[in-house]
Amino acid sequence: MVRVKKSLDAMDIEILKILSSNCREKLEDIASKVGLSSPMIRKRIEIMEKLGIIRGCVARVDMSMLEGVSSSLVLIRHRGSAKLAESLYRHPAVERVYISRAGDTIVALIRGVGGEGAREVIDMVKREVPEAEIIDVNQIYEKPWIPEKPGISIIYRCGFCGGVIIGSPYVLELGDGIKTFHGRECAEAYLQKKRLMQV
Ligand SMILES: [Zn+2]
Repeated sequence: MVRVKKSLDAMDIEILKILSSNCREKLEDIASKVGLSSPMIRKRIEIMEKLGIIRGCVARVDMSMLEGVSSSLVLIRHRGSAKLAESLYRHPAVERVYISRAGDTIVALIRGVGGEGAREVIDMVKREVPEAEIIDVNQIYEKPWIPEKPGISIIYRCGFCGGVIIGSPYVLELGDGIKTFHGRECAEAYLQKKRLMQV
């Protein structure tokens, strides 16, 4: 697989977070959330699409609406798990497999009707790798966990005074990345301090 590494900045990451929870979010809405202009957002999205970082827009199915469907996670700790990961990938009950970079931990998402799948998968792992450590996270919620009070999902801190910014941040694109501030005053104070420090 060809990998394109691009160093994303904090703004790109925020845009990706917003798009991954709603890929149809309007440019203007993203713009107001992260404090950049719509054309700048569009440009960043286009670049991330060209690089293959954004790979499309998919439907988020609420599996909890489907009666009888349950999901489980199985964590397996075992050195050199690549072969086991492949078997898991091929197992019909396994929907997705994650493997740690170190190759010693596998997480398998199992989804099916009735919850039989997890037991089958665990039996298979025990057969293939009897010494593996298996953690069976039986029955997880279908939805990613979020706090009860959603509130503001993105918390910006002021680059000068360190305080939390409520509302749109004042954004400066500096040589070493993007900085957010309460407003022009904090931004100017920051630049002045930076200049003094360089002397
Ligand atoms: Zn400030």
